[in-house]
Amino acid sequence: MNIMVGGILQESNTFSEATSGLEDFRRLLFLEGEELLAETLPGGAPMPHNELAGFRQAAQEQGVRLAPTLFMQAASSGRMRREPLDELKRLLLERLAQMLPCDGLLFAFHGAWVAEDNDDATGEFVAMLRAAVGPDVPIVISLDSHANVTRQMVANIDGLIGYRTFPHIDHAETGYRAASLLFAIARGEVARPVIRLAKAPMIVPAENHTTDRGPMLALLREAAEGERAGDSLATSLFAVQPWLDVAEMGFGVVVLGADAARAEAEAQRLAALAWSKREQFAVRLYSVEEAVRLALTEPKNGPLVISDSADSPGAGSPGDSNFVLRRLLALGAERELACLLSMVDATAARLAVEAGEGGVVKLEVGHSISRSMGEPLAIEARVVRVGGGTFRFGGGMAAGVVANMGRCAVVAIGSISLLLMEYPVFTGDPAMYRSVGLEPADADVVLVKSASQFRAEYEKLTSRICILDTPGASTANLAGLTFLRVPRPMYPFEDHFLPEGR
Ligand SMILES: [Zn+2]
Repeated sequence: MNIMVGGILQESNTFSEATSGLEDFRRLLFLEGEELLAETLPGGAPMPHNELAGFRQAAQEQGVRLAPTLFMQAASSGRMRREPLDELKRLLLERLAQMLPCDGLLFAFHGAWVAEDNDDATGEFVAMLRAAVGPDVPIVISLDSHANVTRQMVANIDGLIGYRTFPHIDHAETGYRAASLLFAIARGEVARPVIRLAKAPMIVPAENHTTDRGPMLALLREAAEGERAGDSLATSLFAVQPWLDVAEMGFGVVVLGADAARAEAEAQRLAALAWSKREQFAVRLYSVEEAVRLALTEPKNGPLVISDSADSPGAGSPGDSNFVLRRLLALGAERELACLLSMVDATAARLAVEAGEGGVVKLEVGHSISRSMGEPLAIEARVVRVGGGTFRFGGGMAAGVVANMGRCAVVAIGSISLLLMEYPVFTGDPAMYRSVGLEPADADVVLVKSASQFRAEYEKLTSRICILDTPGASTANLAGLTFLRVPRPMYPFEDHFLPEGR
């Protein structure tokens, strides 16, 4: 049996002023052909524990031959530009043509991927995959649980499996489950399932999508009950990342079933249940003032970790906001609290690197990309460390993967250490600060820019965590963003559910 495999993973944030191209994939993960099946990455680093690892493990166990195409991953960003998107389609079609004929196609997507001229880039690619292999070859895809699942995706596949964890730690397991399903369909052991998609018209903050507590845990348990009762072969829940102003937006439930009526009923049941829990997703947000007060008055048991999740590169924001630094300086924190901060600013990073360690620099920092969100801030600071630019993620989803900050330096303003970097990276791993000689465990206040993924590593250091109320493209304060394209009614803007109208 010959199964084509591949993957293209990127999350888009339509409120971000950044745009994305092929360079974003080349910077993180860009594998072609036989590289997908090699034991190590081209540079010699270990293969990440992602969907592809799961595909490979299932294939090895079941004696299936994999025909590799492309597997690539980029950091989150704004909408993808059309020209690189078309180039990516051309590269993928070329690989697919080389690998045909095949008995099945297995592909990993993120599923919240948006082009400058198409709200559903994933759907566009899935339709292209279907056209390339023809109507009879089974296709199974895997998706991030923040995907916005669309009718176009569902219409062109035979199965779909989503992550079941957030912070995400089951990339490989999801790949393994998707592969096992496809192999069973391709061998004729399982009939092609019917797929039913139901949506609850709600957008809820990502901070409380966590699956080890709260409403998502309850919903996952209900989904598992439905599987046990035989209403579903496999159910996936898509809380959807909230910063998508796109058509067909909403909390998705996908049920794969043997029986259309039962699968439909199960999908509707779970969508209604998700709707009933919408208010449980609300997040307590802290002002910077409140956070500073906590840092000064609470008994210290680990650093106070504050998240500027509104500027999370993991959610497609540029990572260039200076809002928190500005507030900390206004409050005089540079005289009292050892604070670790990070900020994307290519020009400021270059100037600091050029000044060298020990140099004193006058810089304008912040909002070089997110110009509508704030003004640059003038600072005078001492360069304390010029960094090497890369670090290796110590844990969680990307353990072992190398992140590239480009040119970077730590500058000090009193007791505030600010890590300036050229490129955005996932900021929720203490390895980032450690790579430039800063120890988060020893600080009073540590800034991350992440909705929830940072908890996987930072909860090992502290139980003191605050999500900040700050401006930005990935804010938890959804009412503060202008949504124009999502279907209405939509919670939290309206509070009624009209399934028949959808
Ligand atoms: Zn996600």
